Amino acid sequence: PTANNSDKRIGVILGDGIGHEIVPATQRVVTAAVTAAGGADVDWVTLPLGLGAIDSHGTPLPDSTLAALAELDAWILGPHDSAAYPEPFRGQLTPGGVIRKKFDLFANIRPARSLEGVASMVPDMDLVIVRENTEGLYADRNMFAGSGEFMPTPDVALAVGVVTRRACERIAHTAFALARTRRRHVTIVHKANVLSLTTGLFRDVCRDVGERHYPDVQIDDQHVDAMTAHLVRRGRDFDVVVAENMFGDILSDLTGELSGSLGTAPSINSSDTQVMAQAAHGAAPDIAGHNRANPTALMLSAAMMLDLFGERRADRHLVGAATRIRDAVRSTIASGVATADLGGLASTSEFTETVLARTLRR
Ligand code: ATP
Ligand code: MG
Repeated sequence: PTANNSDKRIGVILGDGIGHEIVPATQRVVTAAVTAAGGADVDWVTLPLGLGAIDSHGTPLPDSTLAALAELDAWILGPHDSAAYPEPFRGQLTPGGVIRKKFDLFANIRPARSLEGVASMVPDMDLVIVRENTEGLYADRNMFAGSGEFMPTPDVALAVGVVTRRACERIAHTAFALARTRRRHVTIVHKANVLSLTTGLFRDVCRDVGERHYPDVQIDDQHVDAMTAHLVRRGRDFDVVVAENMFGDILSDLTGELSGSLGTAPSINSSDTQVMAQAAHGAAPDIAGHNRANPTALMLSAAMMLDLFGERRADRHLVGAATRIRDAVRSTIASGVATADLGGLASTSEFTETVLARTLRR
């Protein structure tokens, strides 16, 4: 991908369930923030995926959507609910997983930062989990081991974990470069006392990249089991935490919950050229269509996307828009305007209007 630097096309995928509410709300906030920051209008490219795409294209993830994403450097992916797809699509493929794999979005970045006005188990938490997204034991995402899991007999199941130097190097660079923009501290998570070859390689390569290329960044490492206890007891002490796929998956759910709630936890998935904003939560079918969903997680994900997209094309308007969105969302919640999941009374639309108004403030 990577067209020219004036290309402000951003993809948008509604997905399923509350995606139909939180994605348009996020789009409005992004458009307003970019304009308020002095930028030209965002050129939205809307792409079908999920239940809507089954109706219109006969498949939850049309080839035309994948082809369009290949031409884009940034997009917002709404939540999807593949368990609700009719046969033969039910559970067959998770669109988000296919997209991550197809575009090799190897870095899953999940900040956990407590928000003023949101009760959290670890106050003052402000860390970022940098999760390797392509390897380890996660068979369906595994590039080298094919199916990954298999059963040689009906009574024995095996799984192959893959760790490569190349994947460790690139995720390490992501983590250390991020740490330089923060408190300059990286914690490497592994289990090298038991999985000494695989997670040992992860630990050693990450440490090596840090020592060689980022001498100004402090490094330590933790066994994953000990890390869970440290996060609960002293989560505020961590800055950037880099972990292989499964450890990062588990730890980021933990830190998300410790710092706030599902409705506030943002994330991006990125490669060296492309970035996808995706909330950590799912399609929440139980509240879909009721104007109750919290768009915070997706709005903050979109801000992360704009930061990276803007930085990569040296567009200060996009970066400025990201700051505006973050400030507006935080100050809205701090002022007591919040959705039901946070104990507030605001609907999705009331919350969004307040964020929009604050986004436009000077
Ligand atoms: P998935 O398998 O896609 O991760 P899930 O079963 O883990 O989905 P979610 O869709 O994330 O579930 O929802 C879990 C619970 O949290 C539900 O009760 C849902 O209503 C609530 N929830 C999730 N996201 C939000 C949100 N943005 N605003 C309000 N409530 C939410
Ligand atoms: Mg879930």
